[in-house]
Amino acid sequence: MPAKFDFHVHTMYSDGVGTAAAMAEAAEARGLEAVALTDHGPELSVGTPREKLTPMLQDIRLAQEDAGIPVLAGIEANVVDEGGTIDVDDEFIGKLDILVVGIHKLGKAKDSVELARDYLGRATHAIERHKIDVLAHPFYFHRDLAPHLLPEDLENFVRLAAGRGAAMEVNMKYRVPGEEFLRLCLHEGVKLSIGTDAHTTGEVGRVDWALGVLQRIGARREDLILDGFLR
Ligand SMILES: [Zn+2]
Ligand SMILES: [Zn+2]
Repeated sequence: MPAKFDFHVHTMYSDGVGTAAAMAEAAEARGLEAVALTDHGPELSVGTPREKLTPMLQDIRLAQEDAGIPVLAGIEANVVDEGGTIDVDDEFIGKLDILVVGIHKLGKAKDSVELARDYLGRATHAIERHKIDVLAHPFYFHRDLAPHLLPEDLENFVRLAAGRGAAMEVNMKYRVPGEEFLRLCLHEGVKLSIGTDAHTTGEVGRVDWALGVLQRIGARREDLILDGFLR
């Protein structure tokens, strides 16, 4: 049985409705081993404003003190250009426990293949340039783009992620990525994460679908990112 944890949760600092403390409490009540609070980075319209990043971190640290499970301080940073630039600087990243990165914006494309290639390029450069712990909802951009890529391109991408220690998230909200991609991750030694992408206390830790997927593809506890973050 893979472990129960949730490394993708939003609070009031971006577009969630709960406080850090309330989300951590809900995670503990749902029986999770650990939770990461990962509000949107500043470059998304609903993202955490830059001047709120430090107060956000302070609130997470306070929630940590009261919680009975590990509460990781994180962010869901945005990839903001084709070169893989993200919207938080290294100094701030150094203060976090976990760096989750998502791609929420792509360029104009004539079809799904072009869109998928744009996504792949941004994700590749972001992983090359930054020490990313988790790629949020991999290859999801209004739909799963992975099937529009060549198998060898996906293989190269997964090998890069393995070499750089970037985990791929099984995302509850969008139900991505597909099992074929996740099997490839397992085969190449890429660790997997679980994220509900919760925006309310009711959604935190509802990971049943992800656990089912992980069980079907034969993921073991050691294939998950969790233990590296428990201390
Ligand atoms: Zn996202
Ligand atoms: Zn999110």
